[in-house]
Amino acid sequence: MSELSDIIKVDINRYGSLRIDEFMTLALAHADHGYYMKQDPFGRGGDFITAPEISQMFGEMIGAWAADAWLKLGAPNAFALVECGPGRGTLMADMLRATRGVAGFHDAAQVCLVEISPALREKQKEALQGYDIQWFSGFSDVPDYVPLIVIGNEFFDALPFRQAVYQGGEWLERVVVLDKNDNLTFSSSRDLIAGSMDSAVKPRNDDVSEGDIFEFAPEREAFMAALCTRLKAQNGAGLFIDYGHAQSATGDTFQAVYRHDYCDVFDHIGDADLTSHVDFGALSQVAGDAGGNVEAIATQGDFLRRLGIDLRARALAAHAPDKAPDIEKDLQRLIHPDQMGTLFKVMGVSYGIKQQLGGF
Ligand code: SAH
Repeated sequence: MSELSDIIKVDINRYGSLRIDEFMTLALAHADHGYYMKQDPFGRGGDFITAPEISQMFGEMIGAWAADAWLKLGAPNAFALVECGPGRGTLMADMLRATRGVAGFHDAAQVCLVEISPALREKQKEALQGYDIQWFSGFSDVPDYVPLIVIGNEFFDALPFRQAVYQGGEWLERVVVLDKNDNLTFSSSRDLIAGSMDSAVKPRNDDVSEGDIFEFAPEREAFMAALCTRLKAQNGAGLFIDYGHAQSATGDTFQAVYRHDYCDVFDHIGDADLTSHVDFGALSQVAGDAGGNVEAIATQGDFLRRLGIDLRARALAAHAPDKAPDIEKDLQRLIHPDQMGTLFKVMGVSYGIKQQLGGF
């Protein structure tokens, strides 16, 4: 039994139950024992591998996207290049390397990383040696006087979400409680959900059946709303990549990954990653309501191909023929529909840019 699960049990005893978002916040972000706070969970030795850790080509394409967005903004001579949840810093390092040749881009860019984890900040410092970087704990602290180009890979899925469960003709809040043996288990609560789903794009009651689960994420939506408020005032663009769906739908996508394998969400608390699929339909609605120019959600495969990842893979393979099979394997992992190509989606939003963003 981990120390963190004891802390969670004390909270449940005190309050009667925890909502999923409250449980997730403790499991991932508890200052001493939270998953992201105490370790480096990524990479081939970690719990899971993200796209930038698979291949440098991913960051190179995102770098090209950012340079294109900057040019479409009129190449301002100062802007903030913001990454939310940069993990080990690999994506930003590849983006900066890939954009060295874009005249004026590096001089104009103020690189800002939004990161809550002290352990990962250290990794990012190492990966980005030689660059002038600023760190922030929250998005609200990033510069408010220059245009913004904001990216986030697998960032939204790390933010807490809530679940509603359809029971007896109404939506109830899905909560975590203790069973009679003092083990964590799911239950539901009518009181806790009151008013919370009023603004959610929830499914129509005649489309749902007993026991269906609907996920909604006020924290993710609040982040998108805050981003759009800033973009509206400062101009710029945002790009977010995550596994998820382009339209809101029912389904339980709460999952835990421990050392490359799925596990029960109540096992390995603080040592397993907890995520859920991102509802890009809901986030697009928030951005659209805020007046943003929202691109149609793209799949990761289409997005990367439109930015030229096939050509890049061929060029890399021509330079290093002995690595060609690995390069091809990594390419397929990123773009193939059976791998990350379709499940992962890309959302783009902009203000003050008339043309379409790259890759959509
Ligand atoms: N983008 C990286 C890492 C994704 S994991 C990659 O693709 O490899 C999620 C990242 O978001 C981690 O760096 C984690 O520490 C950070 N994070 C989680 N919650 C956060 C929050 N509320 N604010 C800022 N960063 C957060």
